[in-house]
Amino acid sequence: MRMLLAGEWVDRAETIDVRDPFDGSLVDTVPSASPEDVETALAAADRARETARRMTTFERWRVLTGAAAIVRDNLEDFARTIAREGSKTIREARKEARRTVNTLTISAEEAKRLNGETIPFDSFPGGEQRRGHFQRVPVGVVLAITPFNDPLNLVAHKLGPAIAGGNAVILKPATVTPLSALKLTEALLAAGLPSDVLQTLTGHGAVLGDTLVADPRVRMISFTGGLEAGRRITARAGLKKIGMELGSNSPVVVWKDADLEWAAETCVSGAFWAAGQNCIGVQRIYVQREVYDRFRDRFVELTRAYKIGDKLDEATDMGPMITETEAERVSSWIAEAVAMGATVLAGGGRTGALVEPTVLEGVPETATIHREEVFGPTVNLYPFDDLDEAIRSANSVDYGLHAAGFARDVEVCFRLIEGLDAGSVLINDSTDYRLDSMPFGGIKGSGLGREGVRFSLQEMTEPKVVCWYLPGL
Ligand code: NAP
Repeated sequence: MRMLLAGEWVDRAETIDVRDPFDGSLVDTVPSASPEDVETALAAADRARETARRMTTFERWRVLTGAAAIVRDNLEDFARTIAREGSKTIREARKEARRTVNTLTISAEEAKRLNGETIPFDSFPGGEQRRGHFQRVPVGVVLAITPFNDPLNLVAHKLGPAIAGGNAVILKPATVTPLSALKLTEALLAAGLPSDVLQTLTGHGAVLGDTLVADPRVRMISFTGGLEAGRRITARAGLKKIGMELGSNSPVVVWKDADLEWAAETCVSGAFWAAGQNCIGVQRIYVQREVYDRFRDRFVELTRAYKIGDKLDEATDMGPMITETEAERVSSWIAEAVAMGATVLAGGGRTGALVEPTVLEGVPETATIHREEVFGPTVNLYPFDDLDEAIRSANSVDYGLHAAGFARDVEVCFRLIEGLDAGSVLINDSTDYRLDSMPFGGIKGSGLGREGVRFSLQEMTEPKVVCWYLPGL
C-alpha cells in the first residue's frame, strides 16, 4: 500500500515488508518515510489546519458516519487485514473491526455535542455590562502515534476525535501493522475527508519520531504505546499538549463468595486475548485461600483447552506474538520466575512466535514477570488470606490502568474499588472489559490524560473565551 502525504498517495523506493507473524509470509509492503517526508507532512498539516477548522460540524459528522459505514460494510476485509498483519485471530479481529464502527460512530455523535458554556461575567464587581461564553476550538495539528496490538480501533480512537474537533492530523502507525491504518485512511477519504487534512506516514518511530514530536507546529501528541517510548516522547515534546496511553500489569482479586466459574472463564479470556498483547490484559490474579484450589484447577483446565495456531482458522483461540523476539523475551521472563521458585501449572513452552498460554504459581514479587508489563500470554496466580495484603500486592507495581475484583459482598467490593490504584476498577468482569465511550487511561506508569472519544475530544480542543463589553446594557 502507499502512504498519504500532502494530499497524495505516494510510494517510496525504500519500503518496509509487512509480514504475517504466524508464518513470516509477506502480506504487503509500505513506503519507508524519510526525514524529508516528515517535513512535507508537517508543512502540509500546518497548511491544512484552516481546512480542518472550517469543516462544519455537519461535515465532520458526515465524514465520520460515512467512514463508520465503510468499515461496517467491509467488516470481513478489515478483520482479515487486522488478523494477517498482527497477532489477532480472525474472531478477535472481527470484534476489533466492530468496535471501530462504534468508535467512529461515537466520534460523529460527539462532534455534534462539542459545546461551551455561558460565563456570568457580572458575578463580581467590575464585570458589569459584560456578557460572554466559551466555545471549544481545535488545537490545530494533532500527532497521533499508535501501537501494533489494536491496529485499527486504536487508530480510530485518535482520528475520530481529532476530526470531530476540527484538527489536521499526522498519523504514525506501528511499523509492523500499518495496513489497517492505511485502510482506515482510505475509508475516511472515501467518506469525504479533504485529503490534505490527514497525513498517514509509514516508517520507523526511532527514525521519524524525534523530529515529529519536537516540532512546534504539532500542538498535541496523542501517543499509545510502551512506557519507554512514552518517556522519550514526553522528554522531547516541549511546550505542547500530551496524551499518554501506556502499558500496564493488571491485577484481579477474587474473593471467596465470587462466582468462580464466571471469574475463571472471563479471566482466561482476559489473560490470553491477542496472545496477551493487550494493555488491559489480566496478568496477576489474587485468590482468597479457601477457594484458591477450585479456582486454580478450573483456570488451568480452561487454559489447557485453548487452541493455538493459525489465526485465520475459525477454531483458533490464540495466535502468535507479534515477533519471535517478543516471544523469546516472554519465555526468558517465565524461565527467570521458575529459577526464582515459581511453578508452571500450564503451558510454558514456545515454538517460534507462538508462546503457549501459561499459568504460573509461586511467583515472587521480585520477579520481572510480577513487576513489569509482560504483554504476552502468561498469568500469575497467588493465594491470599488477608484482603488488605492482596490489595497491597496488587498495587505493588508501577502501573495502574485497569484492575478488577470478583465478589458478592458489597463491602468487599467497595474495599476493592477504593483500594485498587487504577484508572478503572471492574467489578465482576475481567480487567480487559472496556467500552469505547468511557474515560480510558491510567495512573503511575500507565500514562497521562484520558481517551474514550468524549474525553479525547476535550484534550484535542481548547476553550476559547468570548467576552462582550456593551456599555449600553
Ligand atoms: P511501542 O514500541 O512503544 O510503539 C508504539 C508506537 O510508537 C509505534 O508507532 C512506534 O513506532 C512509535 N515509536 C517508537 N519510538 C518512538 C519515538 N522515539 N518517537 C515517536 N514514536 C515512536 O509500543 P508497541 O510495542 O507498538 O505497543 C505495545 C505497548 O503499547 C504496550 O506497552 C501496551 O501496553 C501499550 N498499549 C497501551 C494502550 C493504552 O491505551 N493504554 C493500548 C494499547 C497498547 P515503530 O513501530 O516504528 O517502532
